[in-house]
Amino acid sequence: MLILCTNDDGYLAAGLGVLAEAARGVGEVRVVAPDREQSATSHSLTMHFPLRARQMQEHLHHVDGTPTDCVALAVGAILDGRPDFVLSGINHGQNMGEDVLYSGTVAGAMEATILGIPAVAFSYTGRDPEQIAAHGPLVRRLISQIVEHRSDFPAETLLNVNLPAVPPHEVRGVQVTRLARRVYTDSLTRAKDPSGREYFWIGGGGTEWNAPEGTDFWAVDHGYVSITPLHLDLTNYRLLTEVERWDLAP
Ligand code: MN
Repeated sequence: MLILCTNDDGYLAAGLGVLAEAARGVGEVRVVAPDREQSATSHSLTMHFPLRARQMQEHLHHVDGTPTDCVALAVGAILDGRPDFVLSGINHGQNMGEDVLYSGTVAGAMEATILGIPAVAFSYTGRDPEQIAAHGPLVRRLISQIVEHRSDFPAETLLNVNLPAVPPHEVRGVQVTRLARRVYTDSLTRAKDPSGREYFWIGGGGTEWNAPEGTDFWAVDHGYVSITPLHLDLTNYRLLTEVERWDLAP
């Protein structure tokens, strides 16, 4: 069993170390990860610059690109075999609701899914990355249980796992969930630099969750590990006939 680990926080991130260590109990692990912070790069692919991979130690490479680049290079060039599983994370911070669309962590798993390799994204919803290490044994159990399902792992689907921000002994179990809705407020800051020129800063501000029971946010908020199956087909099937009825013509 060959397992590729990647992330979007960079190859030195604590969460990646915990993930790789947990996966080592399950299979042979290779790490190919960005050489720097690539959070919120979503599924971007570097097409207008050359990419370089550098081996830092045995079975650990970093790439000067995005998580998507890392998975593409790992599978296409760096690894000596095709991975049986791709794990991405453990992200320093939650990836729930609409955040899965911005997340580089989820995108790393998504790229593997596109390549036909079963993949799981992991995120820790707490604010202190130092706490992630305590969840290592729990993550290892989850990985080994999920890997057992590799033969019936659904195509075009990845699993998005969020760990609750509680000590491992307080985790109440696992809930399989759907995405909640996240509404950002005041996330755009407008200010002036010392020379008086206006600049903008995206991020910060407040967040409101629309998160009833059964959603990812509800689960972690109540001490559960949340696992959301995500698929790549964004088609809104319910609206196919509705939009057809618009009778559009060129
Ligand atoms: Mn990140």
